[in-house]
Amino acid sequence: MTRDLARFAEKNGVKYFMISYTDLFGAQRAKLVPAQAIAGMQQDGAGFAGFASWLDLTPAHPDILAVPDPASVIQLPWKPEVAWLAADCTMEGDAVPQAPRNVLRAQVAKAAAAGYRVKTGVEAEFFLLMPDGSRISDPHDTAEKPCYDQQALMRRYDVVAQICDHMLALGWGPYQNDHEDANGQFEMNWEFDDALVTADRHSFFKFMVKSVAEAHGLRATFMPKPVEGLTGNGCHAHISVWDRTGRTNVFADADDALGLSPSGMAFLGGIVTHARGMTAITNPTVNSYKRINAPVTHSGATWAPDTVTWSGNNRTHMVRVPGPGRFELRLPDGAANPYLLQAAIIAAGLSGLETGADPGPRLDIDMYAEGHLAKDAPRLPLNLLDALRAFEADTALTEALGAEVSAAYMKLRMQEWNSYMGHFSAWEKAHTLDV
Ligand code: ADP
Ligand code: MG
Ligand code: MG
Ligand code: MG
Ligand code: MG
Repeated sequence: MTRDLARFAEKNGVKYFMISYTDLFGAQRAKLVPAQAIAGMQQDGAGFAGFASWLDLTPAHPDILAVPDPASVIQLPWKPEVAWLAADCTMEGDAVPQAPRNVLRAQVAKAAAAGYRVKTGVEAEFFLLMPDGSRISDPHDTAEKPCYDQQALMRRYDVVAQICDHMLALGWGPYQNDHEDANGQFEMNWEFDDALVTADRHSFFKFMVKSVAEAHGLRATFMPKPVEGLTGNGCHAHISVWDRTGRTNVFADADDALGLSPSGMAFLGGIVTHARGMTAITNPTVNSYKRINAPVTHSGATWAPDTVTWSGNNRTHMVRVPGPGRFELRLPDGAANPYLLQAAIIAAGLSGLETGADPGPRLDIDMYAEGHLAKDAPRLPLNLLDALRAFEADTALTEALGAEVSAAYMKLRMQEWNSYMGHFSAWEKAHTLDV
């Protein structure tokens, strides 16, 4: 593992380090630091004015010092003279409690104290658009059922293969790439790992996909529902929990019909119990609610959940158990903050383990066609305000996640909601002018 960044630079021909932190809205903020200055920055951190990003700080607060985590270092495969570093925000010597990577670190530590290691994988879907974002970039990508479209995938071979080559070079274990269920949409999968590693890779993946797309004259978007009527950008999370050594999957149980142990069920119970509150994190934007609870898309299915239900290998529910020893949370979308997403999963899951939460009976129906049969299934929040209120009301979740981050997140997202509500839309004029 890399410890001395100055030596790393010498050995690998790095000219600049990009010291990067992620704010509450998931934006990555960075400074480029020449290699000759990295030793001091590794010690003290790079200075930022916290108010200038989404962290709920004022202009009067002391500087944030973003201390790079050398374990996270990644040389940009498309520009190896630059190396990216995920940083942990401190202020006057203390960790900033609402900074998302610190929030996730705290959850990972809580899991470790209970003897667990949470391992996750994410499926961060994206669209390739024209540079101005106005429409999908491939005019021939028009199939009614575009999922796995071989021709459309190959028309974007240069972009997809370049990103996959980069993941191969980085040792992430990428194993498949496909055209997804919306025109212009793609998905690339790599191997799961410890939650913090996955969160760093998820962040870097978004940066990499956007950078490679830009180099090809395109624009990549992870926006939850970038095109009306088409399937949205999900960011499914697959979850398993392992023992301290990371070698034994404590979710696995060969005797269970789905291969999930009692602790797997209890963790799932925690997710189910806190799902409505968690939605404020997993589906964090106004636009998120056009992906879940959506009318059927042109392809025939949204592939997104509307209710808090779980099933076996059935993609119409919020949680699917695709195979033994893990489950898939299909709720999150492309706007989810990579660190808060993992932190919320661990906070909810650990609370389920502590209380022995029961996820309730599994449902094996086609939720899209037969959802009316699941009369008691709680509905997911219908919009961001609904989700924020559910989050605020779930004090067990907000306390488990951390009082500071929950309050800061709630405040900033509520401001965003109010900004949205203050916006006059063409829809309301068309529907209200002649009342
Ligand atoms: P699907 O599209 O069927 O939901 P993908 O193959 O696209 O599945 O993505 C599966 C993700 O789950 C990958 O990131 C994979 O590494 C991850 N995964 C597989 N097994 C586990 C596990 N035991 N724990 C956590 N994540 C896992
Ligand atoms: Mg300055
Ligand atoms: Mg997938
Ligand atoms: Mg997918
Ligand atoms: Mg999936």
